[in-house]
Amino acid sequence: MTAARRQTVFAGLDQPQAWPPTPRAPRAQRLDAPVESLGGVGAALARRLAKLGLASVRDVLEHRPRRYETAADEVRIAALPHDEEVVVVGEVLNVERRPLRGRRTLVRARVSDGSATVSAQWFNQPWLADQLRPGSRVRLRGKLGRFGFDVRSYDLGEARATADFAPVYPAAEEIAAKTVRRVVDAALPFARDVLDPLPAELRQRESLPLKRDALAAIHTPASLDEAERGRQRLAFEELLLLQVGIARRAAEREHTLAASLGEPGELIRRYREALPFALTPYQEQAIRELDGDLASTVPMQRLLQGDVGSGKTVVALYALLRAVENGRQGALMAPTETLAEQHFLTIADLCLELGVTCALLTSSSPKRDRDAAAHADVVVGTHALIQEGVELRDLAVAVVDEQHRFGVEQRAALVHGRAPHILHMTATPIPRTLALTVYGDLAVSEIAKPPASRKPIVTSWITEDRASEAYVRLTRLLGEGRQAYVVCPLIEASETSLARAAEEEAERLRRAELREFRVGCLHGRLRPADRRDLMARFTAHELDVLVATTVIEVGVDVANATVMIVQEADRFGLAQLHQLRGRVGRGAEQSYCVLVSRARDELTESAQARLQALCDTTDGFRLAETDLELRGGGALLGTRQSGLSDFRFAHVLRDRELLERARTASREVGPGPLQDAVDALFAAVEPQTLA
Ligand code: ADP
Ligand code: MG
Repeated sequence: MTAARRQTVFAGLDQPQAWPPTPRAPRAQRLDAPVESLGGVGAALARRLAKLGLASVRDVLEHRPRRYETAADEVRIAALPHDEEVVVVGEVLNVERRPLRGRRTLVRARVSDGSATVSAQWFNQPWLADQLRPGSRVRLRGKLGRFGFDVRSYDLGEARATADFAPVYPAAEEIAAKTVRRVVDAALPFARDVLDPLPAELRQRESLPLKRDALAAIHTPASLDEAERGRQRLAFEELLLLQVGIARRAAEREHTLAASLGEPGELIRRYREALPFALTPYQEQAIRELDGDLASTVPMQRLLQGDVGSGKTVVALYALLRAVENGRQGALMAPTETLAEQHFLTIADLCLELGVTCALLTSSSPKRDRDAAAHADVVVGTHALIQEGVELRDLAVAVVDEQHRFGVEQRAALVHGRAPHILHMTATPIPRTLALTVYGDLAVSEIAKPPASRKPIVTSWITEDRASEAYVRLTRLLGEGRQAYVVCPLIEASETSLARAAEEEAERLRRAELREFRVGCLHGRLRPADRRDLMARFTAHELDVLVATTVIEVGVDVANATVMIVQEADRFGLAQLHQLRGRVGRGAEQSYCVLVSRARDELTESAQARLQALCDTTDGFRLAETDLELRGGGALLGTRQSGLSDFRFAHVLRDRELLERARTASREVGPGPLQDAVDALFAAVEPQTLA
């Protein structure tokens, strides 16, 4: 690979003085024309295309096929093999349409090519019965099955949908794949108006085709290889733009000043002594890395990632105390009030012991208390609140927990005006590639393993009809003095109806399975004081079971809680289940998590895969990757809206090598069209996103 690339560099030395003129000069503005400007696209179709995000000619050109047809042999009907994808060409003899059970329909056509006839069938496309007139010629791609020829794609006339390597666009309810293909065909001639933002020299060094050729290749490839080379070219540009933008941001930060916090001192020494355990090597490593950052006047931007329960909070408090021992303030920001309260409970005692003032700042605290809280050495609060202009007199270190929940946007807003050192913490492990792409300007510290005393959580998956077994096991463990969480189903509903459902479930359990135990109910509708009180009672083991909505997802930390039952677990996402599960397994006792799902045949394949993955591993990084595989690269960690992680062509898991190449290339990009493209990309995102 390297050798090949080097060769093209030398080839690049022989560039001619002037290139031969192209038949007509490209006109980039044509690409911004609305889809209606394309032949055969009227207002109604334009509206439907808009729902696919296709508004301009450019959008259509950049609409990526989901997959391609394979190469399939054209065979005579008399020689049709069973169960192998092939193409047949013939004439329609007759057509029938039949309703099936449910609201399904079947269209059947007898087709002959002179050698024999076959019965071709389509499901749920009733309108086809009118198009397939007797006597019309058809080209069908599909497989011979038990009841006839199952048609996968078809053409009336010329081979397009059935051609080898024909692009297959993402299905949409509103619009037939065939129509999308027709619109793309109409847009393709405009590919030559696409200017290539990549410098020619870079393109040659990386052996990348011209952008317009790449676009043509993804829509009309002559082979799968060609389609993939086109995709890689486009993915490379996406990754490069992002990397250049991120590098710019990092450079801007170099010009901002933060206080240098020097070396750790007396307070830190006492903190280490006060901890009831020795730090793990991973924690020590993270601390060394952040000490290095804090000694500098460049504001720290570090991501501390580690699985749930890996011991990040200890490191976070360390960072906050580094501010305090320099006479400055530290702030710990959480996404929700419950989590803020939980963090506060976790660190308040330790702070007291060290003579450090620590205050909780929530939207429910009265104005007077807020002002007082804002003067504490360590302030714990919700991100929203701290951001909304509570003046922290002398903030030097901010820890932002669960970064992904804020998205990229808020993390920037905080930096505005003041320049504290910032440590972002996340318990949703982000695969390393993704961390590089989305948070590319952050240095990353990783707590790869939890404290050694942890036992992996034993996870099992059962269906509803066996749920009673789970409660039998639960009552036994409760009888032995353990505590438990029961997580209520996640229904698409308001906070209020979720709360009601949780209350009802708690009531039901108090009367039935758990009547001998003390059951509390935690949900988002409780007043903060009540919620705090409930958590404190659970922590003090005045309650055995906490029935909860997903408000316990993050931060709740009770080592004696060793059992979790998740009801209708199939409704939850993989990352969310992993987060939930992280509430148990926090002490030395063996912990259990039971996932209760609906009946197997009611579950989607992806739901089954999620539940199985959770039983198979407790490794958050592996689960995060599985999650990405199951969901595709698009919707990631709630940053989708930001546009920055929303790739059309790049695949964050598979394109690792491409990403590295883009990173390397980004260091030497001079002024030119590429920089303009970066401006355009980053301007499309809200400006504050990029502060
Ligand atoms: P995270 O924030 O990463 O989810 P925490 O910092 O809350 O994890 O730690 C989880 C639990 O492990 C806490 O009860 C904490 O006191 C404990 N813990 C943290 N570090 C260590 C360590 N080095 N040895 C033993 N226990 C630890
Ligand atoms: Mg924690």
